[in-house]
Amino acid sequence: MFIHRPDPIHQVHVETPDPVFAEQLLEQFGGATGELSAALTYFTQSFHTEDQGIRDMLQNIATEEFGHLEMVALMIEQHTRRAKQGAQEKAFNSTLFAVRGYGPHLVDSRGSTWDARYVNEGGNVVRDLRADIAAEAGALATYETLIKLAPDNGSREALRHLATREVAHARMFMKALEQMNKLDDPIFGELQPDDTVDVWFNLTMGPEADRRGPWNSEPTFHIRDLVPEAQQGGGMGSASQARHSPPKR
Ligand code: MN
Ligand code: MN
Repeated sequence: MFIHRPDPIHQVHVETPDPVFAEQLLEQFGGATGELSAALTYFTQSFHTEDQGIRDMLQNIATEEFGHLEMVALMIEQHTRRAKQGAQEKAFNSTLFAVRGYGPHLVDSRGSTWDARYVNEGGNVVRDLRADIAAEAGALATYETLIKLAPDNGSREALRHLATREVAHARMFMKALEQMNKLDDPIFGELQPDDTVDVWFNLTMGPEADRRGPWNSEPTFHIRDLVPEAQQGGGMGSASQARHSPPKR
């Protein structure tokens, strides 16, 4: 069940109401990386796992995300309803607030309606938690942008809290994967991989083909050239040799 307490999880005090910024804030209300997307994603995913600890974590974080949705709504409300007459007219002549009125609406910063396809959920908890880490990265990137655009310290402070919590959530999801030994193991489920599981298909031509990093180096990965020898670049055999020698460090 849900219990409603009529005060936000963190205070919201907008000092300089700006309806144009309110429109940008809509990205975190009805947008792809927004709080509704996060809340409904974690809530839905929670019923995919029988691990009661992880189920509780997902439902608890989902509930916190609804608290974030409330904070974003309050910010949008304060940036529109309390705006000075001149600023209000500026926004109301050019944005959806002219038609839809004060406060938040379930659209993103460009006016596109929220879409259930923003909810990233499958049937496997490892797959879901990986998607969640990516989702938190998306939310964090949007908040960093909004903090740069914010017109006042009150908005920046509230946004910094929201951004910080997304960092905390990403760490929780990583710890849950770590507990399952799945933080750095991409294989889960029933799949028996074939013999290419540790192969780097080198499909790059020219000098770039020799770039090496831990993602394509021994002993974890073996290189298999798929570019014809004659097109590998670098002159008479030099590139070819480099490509088959041990990784340079
Ligand atoms: Mn959030
Ligand atoms: Mn989050």
